[in-house]
Amino acid sequence: MTGRVHLPVIDGTPVPATGQGHEMPVPADPLLDQFARRIRYLRVSVTDHCNYRCTYCMPESLIGEMSFEPRSAVLTFEELERVISVFARLGVRKIRLTGGEPTVRRGIVDLVARIANVPGIEQIVMTTNGHLLDDLAAPLKAAGVSAVNVSLDTLDAERFAKVTGRGDLSRVLAGIDAARAAGMAVKTNAVALYGVNDDEIVALCEAAWSRGATPRFIEHMPMSHGALYEQARGIAAVTIRRTIETELGALVASGASGGSERKDAGPARYWALARDPSREVGVISAMTDHFCDDCNRLRLTSTGALHACLGHDDALSLRDLVRAGGSDDDLVRAIGGSVTGKRAGHTFSDAPPTTHMMGIGG
Ligand code: SAM
Ligand code: SF4
Repeated sequence: MTGRVHLPVIDGTPVPATGQGHEMPVPADPLLDQFARRIRYLRVSVTDHCNYRCTYCMPESLIGEMSFEPRSAVLTFEELERVISVFARLGVRKIRLTGGEPTVRRGIVDLVARIANVPGIEQIVMTTNGHLLDDLAAPLKAAGVSAVNVSLDTLDAERFAKVTGRGDLSRVLAGIDAARAAGMAVKTNAVALYGVNDDEIVALCEAAWSRGATPRFIEHMPMSHGALYEQARGIAAVTIRRTIETELGALVASGASGGSERKDAGPARYWALARDPSREVGVISAMTDHFCDDCNRLRLTSTGALHACLGHDDALSLRDLVRAGGSDDDLVRAIGGSVTGKRAGHTFSDAPPTTHMMGIGG
């Protein structure tokens, strides 16, 4: 941090619209931050609604306090297409659609098709709970979704219903199979928690592999001001790896540089069974290890708030800029400002963000 300029954080402040702010030059390289991290992909939450109520994401106790965004506040398809086309102009090639639950956004297949037509966008992927995937996998693939990450925390139907609030394990497994049958690459995501799936780490790996998917484990992160977080319940990445190694033998780093993968990829580090390198497992060690140093992404909420970091509440409203008649150059200036203000890293343990995972989409 020393010697680096920490620019003022933009925190929900409306950015200059057309006619104002022209004194600010369009940044030469708007997607390069002050820590030399290049933004390569954009995660877009298309709705804050969800058909599940996962206890680590949105427990019943919080639902009363949470107000879902009114429809008028949410970016329309036209607005999303416009904003994404500006990101594409700047060099973003990959879009991840998330939520809430992206498949409950009405017209999601049409939205995918629209994004697929944006010049420059080469890859559209989705993070989903899989509940509606059995029916949607084929149309989503046809529209342009090449891969899905499906949340799968447990293989026990009762536990699954409990942890997801209202989920149906059989539907999710059918959704995974449908996605594979449609030709999508599939990864499973499990938030690793004692008392939920600590005894299923290996079984979750085997289940994913047997379905042609790659299992992944995510360390629990304290979102929602830490309201849902108990440090002692989170299983650390190293424990996950040791558990797998104890039962299945040594893991070796998989990917380009010691457990990482392609530069346009997400935050997971990948390992593979030494005795069978085709069996990979990914771990997102947000709390205990690597996460921020090579962060390559920005996040756009369903209401158009651009977050440079998952772990901080700083955000800038691209929706307000668009609705105030901002030009594409205004959007570029705003995006460049957000990237410049991107923090070195999260401060989950000291200052958890108030942002809900439901709203920002992981
Ligand atoms: N509804 C979709 C789903 O469940 O995959 C997409 C949105 S969900 C917020 C995205 C990912 O965030 C899921 O894999 C979920 O398990 C994960 N997640 C939710 N709350 C989390 C938390 N507090 N810490 C870590 N991961 C979390
Ligand atoms: Fe919904 Fe996904 Fe959060 Fe579960 S993790 S409540 S499915 S947004």
